[in-house]
Amino acid sequence: MANRIVVVGSSNTDMIVQAARIPRPGETILGGAFTMAAGGKGANQAVGAARAGGQVTFVARVGDDLFGRQAIEGFRKDNIDVTYVTRDTGAPSGVALICVAADGENSIVVASGANGRLSPADVQAAKEAITKAAVLLCQLETPIETVKAAVEMAAAAGVRVILNPAPARPLDDALLKHVSVITPNETEAELLTSVKVEDDAGAARAAAHLRTRGVGIALITLGSRGTFVCADGVSELVPTFKVEPVDTTAAGDVFNGALAVALAEGKPLPEAVRFANAAGAISVTRLGAQPSAPKRAEIEALVNGK
Ligand code: ADP
Repeated sequence: MANRIVVVGSSNTDMIVQAARIPRPGETILGGAFTMAAGGKGANQAVGAARAGGQVTFVARVGDDLFGRQAIEGFRKDNIDVTYVTRDTGAPSGVALICVAADGENSIVVASGANGRLSPADVQAAKEAITKAAVLLCQLETPIETVKAAVEMAAAAGVRVILNPAPARPLDDALLKHVSVITPNETEAELLTSVKVEDDAGAARAAAHLRTRGVGIALITLGSRGTFVCADGVSELVPTFKVEPVDTTAAGDVFNGALAVALAEGKPLPEAVRFANAAGAISVTRLGAQPSAPKRAEIEALVNGK
């Protein structure tokens, strides 16, 4: 199927506390409401892509526990193929402790659990799905050997690879040369390129640097400003949509899920980025990771100004 997307990545349960502000190191503050929601960059992107209209297969590991079972139940509700979501008896499901401040800013600690055991063998087991996909979408919340195995397998089969390099870590050119589209935010772009991304000129330099290292298209996400796009003959900011932010958790994940769908459908790059910007913008108006991912009709309504 043309819009078939495979996501290889993490699944977590997010435990979210709202607070006036993020506590300083060593400080204890009283927060407000506590919420539990499905999260994890891989799972968020899988759900983001499924709601945006993709046929999604997720390759992941969860623990053989209540959180893992709830996560799989959630994927099924979003019509995600969970054939390659393994229930691991050797580690608990991943958990993220999240503090969301009144201004929408957040700080997060992740206990990876079963995500840390997602292996190249798991990727090998999903070969049929990966090599027949239109797009492979990966992040860096699971072991790097596993990401490499998936990216190399997809590239060898001519499958387009989107890499969201989050959480930030250095990457070698041997991996980057197989990446069709890379999607760092400002901090991730700075870490990967050592170029300061403080304005459009900085974003353009960082994006161009990534392309010299072998990446096809570099998209640097700039939060409320939108996305800086750098591809053959293009180096420009594609502005996002104006919204009132409530919780920025997973804006990047929802952006990547929607981007994968738009590119899998063959949308031209600027249109695909506008579609992804709209999905990211809607997500920041809602609390939580997966609960904040919009449905396709909502994304299209914002893109079309309705
Ligand atoms: P991350 O969550 O990885 O830090 P960003 O904050 O850059 O990523 O957000 C990803 C995308 O989501 C942005 O490129 C933009 O399109 C959209 N977005 C994020 N924050 C806002 C916002 N406050 N208003 C409108 N769109 C936003």
